[in-house]
Amino acid sequence: MYNSKRKILVLAPHTDDGEFGCGGSIARFILEGDEVYYAAFSLAEESVPEGFPKDVLHTELLKATAVLGIPQKNLLIHKYPVRKLSYHRQDILENLVAINMRVKPDLVLTPSKHDVHQDHFTVTQEAMRAFKFTSILGYELPWNNYQFETSCFVHLSEKHLQLKLESLQCYRSQIGRKYSNEEYIRGLALTRGVQIGGKYAETFNLIRWII
Ligand SMILES: [Zn+2]
Repeated sequence: MYNSKRKILVLAPHTDDGEFGCGGSIARFILEGDEVYYAAFSLAEESVPEGFPKDVLHTELLKATAVLGIPQKNLLIHKYPVRKLSYHRQDILENLVAINMRVKPDLVLTPSKHDVHQDHFTVTQEAMRAFKFTSILGYELPWNNYQFETSCFVHLSEKHLQLKLESLQCYRSQIGRKYSNEEYIRGLALTRGVQIGGKYAETFNLIRWII
């Protein structure tokens, strides 16, 4: 965990989950010299809003992750049908095992264990199987969390938050969602910052920590 350049793997059941849950931390880690990989499991082609091309989330993902500084070679994109990841549980586990062998991450960021979205739950359950020997933190998506233990925080600067906001603005097809606005995202970052005596922060819950 204390390598000079850590390898951090972000697991996003759907393309924008990583940016919402930990986009500020991704920006900070990359600016500090860490290498970040981003694995997505569904491009949600079945639920793209009318008027957008079916592969719009792929295009938006490329833009959003580039804003955060993730090189395109570190994107690991899978195309499972949205809301049906649990039907493909074993395949997803095998994907994760293969990613683990290839990337050998020092830290994995995945949705919280208490995230009730069926796709998020599946990815995190399989991640706990595939990354038993790796530190794992669960990121916060409050609209899916019945409970959330704020056991870990990452301080963010205005710059980190700006990059998170800019990356989320790339998801033009998702703009109508209640949580997809600057006021909310800034408010949540402020709330988490206040909890640790800082300006902005993102919070995570501890799934596994190996020192
Ligand atoms: Zn999602």
